[in-house]
Amino acid sequence: MNNFGFQSRRHFLSTVGGAALTLPALTDALGQPLQTRKLGIALVGLGYYSKNLLAPALQQTQHCRLAGIVTGTPAKADEWMAKYNIPKANVYDYKNFDRIADNPDIDIVYVVLPNSMHTEFVVRAAQAGKHVICEKPLAITEAECDQMINACRKANKQLAVGYRLHYEPFTQEVMRLGQQKVFGAVKFIESSDGFRIGDPSQWRMKKAMAGGGPLMDVGIYAVQGARYVTGEEPISVTAQFSAKTEPQKFKEVEETMSWQFRFPSGAMSNSTTSYTAGVERLYASCEKGWFELSPAFGYGPLKGRTSKGPIEMPVVNHQAAHMDGVSKTLLDGKPLPDHITGEEGKRDVRLLQAIYRAAETGRTINLK
Ligand code: NAD
Repeated sequence: MNNFGFQSRRHFLSTVGGAALTLPALTDALGQPLQTRKLGIALVGLGYYSKNLLAPALQQTQHCRLAGIVTGTPAKADEWMAKYNIPKANVYDYKNFDRIADNPDIDIVYVVLPNSMHTEFVVRAAQAGKHVICEKPLAITEAECDQMINACRKANKQLAVGYRLHYEPFTQEVMRLGQQKVFGAVKFIESSDGFRIGDPSQWRMKKAMAGGGPLMDVGIYAVQGARYVTGEEPISVTAQFSAKTEPQKFKEVEETMSWQFRFPSGAMSNSTTSYTAGVERLYASCEKGWFELSPAFGYGPLKGRTSKGPIEMPVVNHQAAHMDGVSKTLLDGKPLPDHITGEEGKRDVRLLQAIYRAAETGRTINLK
């Protein structure tokens, strides 16, 4: 079994992070199953992603609903309460957030803050007795990932990472094509994600808050792509930073970088990420053909083709599919599939750190 959705969906009842988890199905006061109820989600951080993607998606979800908000900005609280009919009792700021422990309306806390703040709020949410979804990258370091995973385990709560693509049909199809070797063994992959960043004063350009540049932000999708197409964990990595063509803008983080993974089967991947040039492509060349997604990682619609013709799949709202998928599993009282847990988020954070180390040292980093 590998770590990915395609095969691991059959392994829902296996283990989470190697440890058996006892998860009673959620029940109401009379002990009846809550499958018919929508789980209440509280969004922490009401920035771009919450405002434009998650809150609208929560108007379409079947198994969860927008029940609460956590914000440091009172004006935003007023606006959101009015727009989404959120009661004042379900509105928190970053200081009084821990009181969410006493709020039965909130089942899941969804952390949508700058990367450096993920750990604190995931740990506090777990300590408040809530399940947690945390945006990508799960954290900046592996040690922080461990803190989050351990806090959730200790509270007997589940931790999901915000990998919306794992519930997206085009992505699930390329997982199947690669992992089931539909075109024979995967030989090489090109997996890249980059865009031209705007406002240079935003937290994404500050190393302490973002953990790095485009690699942390969108390069992580390219890492994921290579992993979920092969269904393997890379055994070594080499990497290179570009020269800085806009040095005034990129004082703290990399501008563009490339890296290469080797996989146990012999497959290789090449990836580039950038904050100065756009790219969004996942291409796999196999023994008997090829397949690709382009666009591959954005909000969709994604588009795909193979050496035998176009990939036809339903177009879904990524965020709704992801939050519904996670919520349905929680409502069923099952462990989340491994490929969507904090453990999966940690695997990528470990690789991001190794990519930086490879680029900084010029050495091949052994990942075994
Ligand atoms: P954003 O800058 O638009 O929003 C960040 C929010 O955090 C704002 O509401 C801001 O007020 C709040 N905040 C609290 N303390 C802050 C501080 N000290 N500095 C800056 N902001 C502070 O960012 P975003 O684009 O919404 O990203 C938030 C998280 O979501 C990041 O981890 C990002 O990687 C992730 N994200 C994921 C996706 C996806 O497709 N899964 C897309 C976008 C962002």
